[in-house]
Amino acid sequence: MTYSVGPVEVERVVELESWRFAPADMFPAVTPELYAGDSLDFTIATYVVRTPDLTMLVDAGNGNDKHRPVLTAHDGFHTDYLDRLATVVEPEDVDVVVCTHLHPDHCGGLTRLVDASWVPVFPRARHLVPREELAWLQSLVATADVDGPVADLARTYEDSVRPVLDAGLIDEVDLPVDLGHGVTVRAAPGHTAGHVVVELSHGDEFAVVCGDLLHHPFQMADLALAHSGDFDPDRAHQTRRQLVEKLADSGGLLLPCHFGPGHVTRTTAGFAWQPLRRGR
Ligand SMILES: [Zn+2]
Repeated sequence: MTYSVGPVEVERVVELESWRFAPADMFPAVTPELYAGDSLDFTIATYVVRTPDLTMLVDAGNGNDKHRPVLTAHDGFHTDYLDRLATVVEPEDVDVVVCTHLHPDHCGGLTRLVDASWVPVFPRARHLVPREELAWLQSLVATADVDGPVADLARTYEDSVRPVLDAGLIDEVDLPVDLGHGVTVRAAPGHTAGHVVVELSHGDEFAVVCGDLLHHPFQMADLALAHSGDFDPDRAHQTRRQLVEKLADSGGLLLPCHFGPGHVTRTTAGFAWQPLRRGR
C-alpha cells in the first residue's frame, strides 16, 4: 500500500508479520486492565520514502543470520525481506538510509552475510546516523557485559554498524536533518539516546514514522508505561506524549514499525487508536 504526503510517496515493506512476546517482558509494569492477552504480537516494518529528489529507506529491519544469544527474539532470522524490498526498490537504488535507532531490529538489516563477511546491503546509500546515537552505542560497546543484553547490542554494532562505517557510508549528523519536500529527520530521544522520527509534511498533511516511540496500540491507554528497552523511560514518555498529541491535533498518519498504520483521536480519557485497516 502506498501513502502520499504532497509529492512524497511512502511504501510499507514488512520484514516479519508476527513477532510474539510476553507482555511483561516488553512492558514490566503492564497490568491486566491495560492488556489482558497472553502475548503481544508485533510486526517488523520498514518504509520506503520517495521524494522527487531521492529514495530513502527508514529502518532496515532485523536482517538475516544475526547471532543474538541474549536477545534471542532477534536471533537467526531467515526471511525473504530483501526480495520483497526489491519489488519496491533495488538496494542499489536507495540513496539515503535512516534508522530510527540502532537497536538490532531496526539496523540489523543494514548488512548481510556474504562469504562469512558482513557487507552493506545498500552500497550507494548515505546512512544518516545522529552523532549522539552512534556515540551512545559505541560507549555501550566499550563497556559490554558479555552475559547481558548489552552484549547483543555490542554484537549489533560489530556485525551491522561497523561494516557500514568501515565502508565509509555513514554520515554522522546533527538534528534536525531537512531532506527537502517536507521530509525531516527529527530528534525523539528516550528509547535510545539519539532515537529519531521521520516526519513528512505538506500543507495540512502530516505523517510520521515513529520507530520505537510506540510498540503497540494498547499503549494509547497509558503513555507513561515504560518499555523494557527504554534507555531513559521518563524522556521516552515525554517524547511519546508529544508525538501522540501532535498526531491527534493534526489528524496525521502514524507509520509505526511494530504495528499497522493509523490515526490517533482524543477521547475523554486520553487517546484512542484508529487503524487504517482491520487487524494489525
Ligand atoms: Zn523495535
